[in-house]
Order: sequence, then C-alpha cells, then structure tokens
Amino acid sequence: MTNRTPKKILIVEDEPDIAQLVKLYLEKDGFRASVAKSGVEALTVIKSGIPDLLILDLMLPEIDGIEVCKRLRNAPDTALLPIIMLTAKSEESDTIIGLELGADDYVTKPFSPKALIARVKALFRRLERTDDQKHSSFSFGPLLLDPARHEITVKGKEVSLTAKEFGLLEHLMRHPGRVLTRDVLLNAVWGYDYYGTTRTVDVHVRRLKMKIPLLNDAIISIKSLGYKLSDQPPAS
Ligand code: CA
Repeated sequence: MTNRTPKKILIVEDEPDIAQLVKLYLEKDGFRASVAKSGVEALTVIKSGIPDLLILDLMLPEIDGIEVCKRLRNAPDTALLPIIMLTAKSEESDTIIGLELGADDYVTKPFSPKALIARVKALFRRLERTDDQKHSSFSFGPLLLDPARHEITVKGKEVSLTAKEFGLLEHLMRHPGRVLTRDVLLNAVWGYDYYGTTRTVDVHVRRLKMKIPLLNDAIISIKSLGYKLSDQPPAS
C-alpha cells in the first residue's frame, strides 16, 4: 500500500484499557486513531467527520453496537462505512445479528491487537479492490453487468431490465456482501426527491429475481432493514 493520507479509524469501546491498547497498535502501524466511549459519543463524533473505518464494540452503555450499526447503515453518508465489530464469545448469537445488520467483519474478545490490525488491513484491501472495479464491468458468477453499455447478460445471453431494475442490480453488484437498507437503495436508484415508498424496492427486487433466477438465493433479505448481494457468487 502506498502511503497517502493516514486512514482515520474510530474505536468505539467503553473499556479504556482495550481502547488504549488498540489505539496504540493502530498508531504504531501508521493509522490515525481516536476513541469514543459510548455509542452516543460515536454517533456525535461521526456526524462531525466520517472516519475511514469503525472498530465497534458490541456491548456499550446506553445504545449498543448493534443499534449504532443499524443507525449508521440507515444514513446515506455512512451506509458503506467499513465496520469491524468486537464481540465476546458468549455473545455469538449477537455477533450473527451484527453481521446481518451490516458489520463487515468481527473479532472475538479476547483478541491479540496484531490480529485485529491484520483484519483492519484486510478489510481496507478488500474495499480497495472493489474501488478499482468502479468503472469496469461487474461479474457475479455467470452474471455480467456492463454499466457503460447498460447491458446485463447471464451466460452470454442478454437479459432485458427496466432502468430502475438495472440501477438496483448495479448498486447491489457494486457492493457485494454489504447490507444496503431500503432507504439507501431508494436514494441511490430513485433519487432523493422520489415520492415512492421503500416498498418500491421490495417490488423491484422481486422482479429482478423473476427475471434472473440465480438472484433468488443471491439477493439476501435482511429482516426489517434491506438487502445484500451474497459475497459468494454461484459457479459460472
Ligand atoms: Ca464493552
């Protein structure tokens, strides 16, 4: 990785020892790290400046990590903010909820700071790879989407989609494995001044699944939140 501006990481953790240790290791590795001691504080800090990545403890006073994650995913500005969740072994069922609600990865306590830093770097690498593809076409198993030519093919056969269906699928394919809320999808595809409801998104997802059957399993519905495209495409 070439050294540009150091990446900003916000650690949300109410246990000061852990927070300081993680901060120290991140700074040793060239990151700029700061700490928020509660979910409320984190949301305030993020409002005044969005970090490049969030390390988010699950168990926090007042509002917990899951709620913080949910709120961030629901706001267009932070819908794609990379999040690594810190959890304890006994909270494994919550961990699954956290991942469903849009955390990108999680680390179980007790953890070694080095292992956490490795996960941070791996997540940045993963996101940079997706960034590189921004202007080219996207593939998902046998499905190929070419934004420039506005064309979708499955095993080489063209599929005809409406503009909105295309936009919705394009948005999902640009962010595989990431939970996108209905509001975020609505804003991205229909625009902020659209008067429809989030039900519109559901209807279009259903149509996409009808036209492209392989999307039936691939577009995963996240209860009360939105959708994500599986990060494991079917074999071509
Ligand atoms: Ca905690």
